[in-house]
Amino acid sequence: MNLLLAEDDAILADALTAQLQQAGFCVEHAPNGAVAEYLMQKRDYDAAVLDIGLPMVDGLTVLKHVRKDKPALPVLVLTALDGLDDRVAGLNAGADDYLTKPFDFPELEARLRALLRRTRAQPAPTPPADMGRLAFDRDARRASIDGQLLELSPREWELLDLLLSQRNKVVQKEQITAAWAAADRTGGGAAGEGTAAPGMIEVYIHRLRRKLEGSGLVIRTVRGLGYLLEPEAAGR
Ligand code: CA
Repeated sequence: MNLLLAEDDAILADALTAQLQQAGFCVEHAPNGAVAEYLMQKRDYDAAVLDIGLPMVDGLTVLKHVRKDKPALPVLVLTALDGLDDRVAGLNAGADDYLTKPFDFPELEARLRALLRRTRAQPAPTPPADMGRLAFDRDARRASIDGQLLELSPREWELLDLLLSQRNKVVQKEQITAAWAAADRTGGGAAGEGTAAPGMIEVYIHRLRRKLEGSGLVIRTVRGLGYLLEPEAAGR
């Protein structure tokens, strides 16, 4: 279990780190909010313990940012004894639980384990907010809209995979033909769909657009540049 501990009180942080390690957690310590944000972007933690009163970037701001990037990360916030407003604000900003200082270590450990159990009990990770109604399982090679399986040819699959991995960014035609060619080389199974010619891109984009109807995602043509997959509501 990888844990981030964001706490600026060095004595408390050292004590908690030692106790958490003894309890079997792998702990990284952030002494301020800026380091906490940096580490949470860079690494995949199983949970975070976040002090609200942090220097550089306060804990609430860190929490709000983290909730955008990592909606499923369990976060337990630490607040001061008189910090009722902090507790309310913390929960509103997406904290999963809170503890008021001072607390006993067994209490923290019990809360953390409960949080981790709850997260693991969830059937599937929360899909990113910009995926619309589309569920995409690369390993199983399955895509569905509201549980309705999409029937995609190998080329359509590669195209959707590429657009999704670059979503909200422009994908150039060269990238599409390169992805197709790479799939052909590794036996992507597009035999029978013809060569991965640039002239075929519009045909496949057209087909994929129709299949994505109702997904909340649209493929926009960016003249002279390529294509862009984005939420329908983004408008332009
Ligand atoms: Ca503090």
